[in-house]
Amino acid sequence: MSLTLYNTLTRRKEAFEPIDPQNVRMYVCGPTVYDYAHIGNARPVIVFDLLYRVLRRTFGADHVTYVRNITDVDDKINQRAADEGVSIRNLTERTAKQFHEDIAELGVLEPTVEPRATEHIDEMKVLCETLVEKGHAYVAEGHVLFDVASMAEYGRLSNRSIDEMEAGARVEVAPYKKGSMDFVLWKPSKVGEPGWPSPCGIEIDGRPGWHIECSAMAGRHLGKVFDIHGGGIDLTFPHHENEIAQSRCAHGTDTMARVWMHNGFLQVEGEKMSKSLGNFITIHDLLKEWPGEAVRLAMLSTHYRQPFNWTAKGVAEAKRTLDHWQELTKDAAADGPVCEDVLETLADDLNTPKAAAALHELRTSAAHGSLGAAACLRASANLMGLLQVSQSNWMAWRPATLSVDDEEIADQIIARLAARKSKDWAVADRIRDELAAKGVQLKDAKDPETGEIVTTWEVAR
Ligand code: AMP
Ligand code: ZN
Repeated sequence: MSLTLYNTLTRRKEAFEPIDPQNVRMYVCGPTVYDYAHIGNARPVIVFDLLYRVLRRTFGADHVTYVRNITDVDDKINQRAADEGVSIRNLTERTAKQFHEDIAELGVLEPTVEPRATEHIDEMKVLCETLVEKGHAYVAEGHVLFDVASMAEYGRLSNRSIDEMEAGARVEVAPYKKGSMDFVLWKPSKVGEPGWPSPCGIEIDGRPGWHIECSAMAGRHLGKVFDIHGGGIDLTFPHHENEIAQSRCAHGTDTMARVWMHNGFLQVEGEKMSKSLGNFITIHDLLKEWPGEAVRLAMLSTHYRQPFNWTAKGVAEAKRTLDHWQELTKDAAADGPVCEDVLETLADDLNTPKAAAALHELRTSAAHGSLGAAACLRASANLMGLLQVSQSNWMAWRPATLSVDDEEIADQIIARLAARKSKDWAVADRIRDELAAKGVQLKDAKDPETGEIVTTWEVAR
């Protein structure tokens, strides 16, 4: 199967040819750990997990190295720790743990390596020194700065000229910078801020800039040039542009990663997600209302390069779809073949909307009793990280917002049916309303054979 991926660097779809098919290497920028991850952060996690699965399927599970870092040195972290009056370590450990718990629910595989910035300070210092030695960086007032004018191809990824970047970027123009676009590789730490002995003969302790962290971790775990680098579209400039500048100039290579991939941004009900608009959704809160796989399928229903509009309607629909797929595949063989159509569409730059349509077709055949189609549906959904839970576990899932357990609901249904039989309508209605207030909606249907009323329930939305 040949894999085609859209490359931000060349602005077109290209056949993917790994440098070494025995070891396909991918780096994805991970979270800065100071707060709960939000659903926007979940998008690259899900998209690149899918790509990781497709790569493993194509090149073999043991022939793919996926590195997703944790940024645990950052000014936002320092600020938050000071605000909360906790140590930086306490904040980053707690947040990283929460991140892992949240994304595990989204059905993602663990990356091969999950490096932390604080464990790669030495590599960052070596990069600073190499860049100064090679004339691509300079020391000024305790900082090490990258000299943007020293790199002719700066701006190639984001496709902008230096003039355009200067006009567009609100980069702080410090007096010690030679050029206004020059960016920090290392900066001095004030008392109380995390700091390490500085490189390049700087006497005061300092800490790395954000961009150098990724260059160091990618270089350490994947080498000077690797296959794929990913992240959200917002990272293209300046973060990825700067990673490229640092890594290429330090290593003397003409590329850092061959393919650069970016997921589109996520909006909420058609608006930018922000705390001030009151539509900010953390993964943690969302998982109280929806199973993680419904979130995953909802996100994969839009192609990863398109903007994604998060809606309550969309996730409800994804949940219903999975309910149905689970029911149809509950007796299917676990090791069925993956449907060719699904494989081909995923191999075409992760065309997930089309892959989901192929799954819907399998569902139709499975609903007509084809066990082969059901097995295919299960295996194909598995490749997309879906239907990974058993049907019984899926059915047993309840939102945390539901304040009543299954047994109590069953008892109340019996009591209500008895009340109806004795025409005690007031009692029957009260039971229904009380359950509704607890988030349970009752549904009555007549059994066609016996004519008796059968009551089922679902979570009210
Ligand atoms: P951060 O922790 O802000 O550095 O972001 C971690 C990852 O989430 C990066 O790859 C970002 O590009 C991505 N990201 C942040 N916000 C959104 C959003 N609203 N939509 C899609 N991706 C996002
Ligand atoms: Zn990065």
